[in-house]
Amino acid sequence: MTHPFNSGCPCCLPRNGLSRRQFLRTTAAGVAAAPALAAGVIGEAQAAPRAQSGRPILLKGGCVLSLDRAVGDFEQADVLIEGKKISAVKPNISAPNAQVIDASKCIVMPGFVDTHRHMWQGFLRNVLPDGSLMDYIQVVQRKFGANFVPDDVYAADLLSALGCIDAGVTTVLDWSHIHNSPEHSDAAIKGLQESGVRAAFAYGTPQTVSGNWKEAPKNKFPGDIARLRKQYFNSDDQLTTLFLASPGGPPPEVMAIWKAARDVGARITIHVGVGEFGRSAFLEKMHAIEPLKSDTTYIHCCTLNDTEWKLIKDSGGTVSIAGYVETLMGHGNPPTQKAIDTGIRPSLSVDVETSVPNDFFTQMRTVFSLQKNEVWARRLGGEKDAGKFLTAREVLEFATIEGARANGLEKKVGTLTPGKEADIVMLRHDRLNVMPMNNAVGAVVTSMGPQNVDTVLIAGKVMKRNGQLVGVDMNRIARLGRQAQERAYKAANVPDKRV
Ligand SMILES: [Zn+2]
Repeated sequence: MTHPFNSGCPCCLPRNGLSRRQFLRTTAAGVAAAPALAAGVIGEAQAAPRAQSGRPILLKGGCVLSLDRAVGDFEQADVLIEGKKISAVKPNISAPNAQVIDASKCIVMPGFVDTHRHMWQGFLRNVLPDGSLMDYIQVVQRKFGANFVPDDVYAADLLSALGCIDAGVTTVLDWSHIHNSPEHSDAAIKGLQESGVRAAFAYGTPQTVSGNWKEAPKNKFPGDIARLRKQYFNSDDQLTTLFLASPGGPPPEVMAIWKAARDVGARITIHVGVGEFGRSAFLEKMHAIEPLKSDTTYIHCCTLNDTEWKLIKDSGGTVSIAGYVETLMGHGNPPTQKAIDTGIRPSLSVDVETSVPNDFFTQMRTVFSLQKNEVWARRLGGEKDAGKFLTAREVLEFATIEGARANGLEKKVGTLTPGKEADIVMLRHDRLNVMPMNNAVGAVVTSMGPQNVDTVLIAGKVMKRNGQLVGVDMNRIARLGRQAQERAYKAANVPDKRV
């Protein structure tokens, strides 16, 4: 076969993980190993119980991407889970007492980690396919949000969280700025906790018709964070953790809000560098009041200046890029290349389901193609030092371990490392959009979608199996969503037209 390139043809090189030849070996081994599965296999038609019996779980014979360089990747290996935690990742684990889940047709990898999603908009999905940022603020925040009742927040958070699990997003930061009253806060947390997702709950401001959150009659932001800490977040050993979702504003006021977070040991998340508004050197002004710290995640960052980028880097802060919405709504270019040039590994986020799909495949492909396009443009423009192309593996790391870092959870999740909690997705590679698989990292980043998410575990619990959520009454969820939707349209006085 003659290739268009004399050497280094990309389709002949061993790629970041498995070469084609290696993979073919894997497939053969996988087929041979399948009949050897012990009794106790959870069969195709049997759903595993959501609450485990206390027996270990063995994910058997999968193509494992641990994303931990010390553990490595395997063409075929097993993952043993005992209680909440991963206890081993290697080939041929013997665990006679374990429930076995056949992973031979799957890529086994850490669950995706989203670092910024406004989950109170869960039942307003796809409401604004053509909306700009201004439309979003006017319609979603000032019309819908200002009129939300606590039951709306509960339904939306639950719906959005179950959507996360379904799509393989095992950890999500709920950027929750719907705290029109303390009851709204209780409702958001209830929805998250009921879903079983791992969530960083980021407590934020109320919504009002005017857009000024201080005018909300029952506003308790930010002081109520102390109650929330005591009432819901008094242990580190739980699935939900506490953040503060900071509004913008005059820097001295914002710094006082950050103090309320730090007083109760909550990390901080804030939108910066959004469109023209983002060119105010806000972070320089904040830094002049008090040096930036490593406990803060900066979202979007599209129009920050070079000094602000350096301040984030020097402080050890983290970055969340919501690439898809940034291109749709005029935030500015997703700053993946800028982050890399500054020495920052960004995390990824969905942001708003009102115009963005809820999965992470879209997020990965958005930053992947845009970063490459930027390097190509530099090269075509004749720049000598045009920068390096992002690799698919780096994008996968942004979507997992870098997300865990930004959510303050890198010691618990983000890689398949023995000792970490078992937040794991199994992605089918025997589906028509992927088969026959040639490169595992490539399959996830370039080819897969939510339809490949077969099995999801969070803290060792099986949350999705054989493509179905486990232990979820879908009729009830649909009813909750519909009722909230009807109520919210009426309250907001928005015409309820689906087409
Ligand atoms: Zn946002």
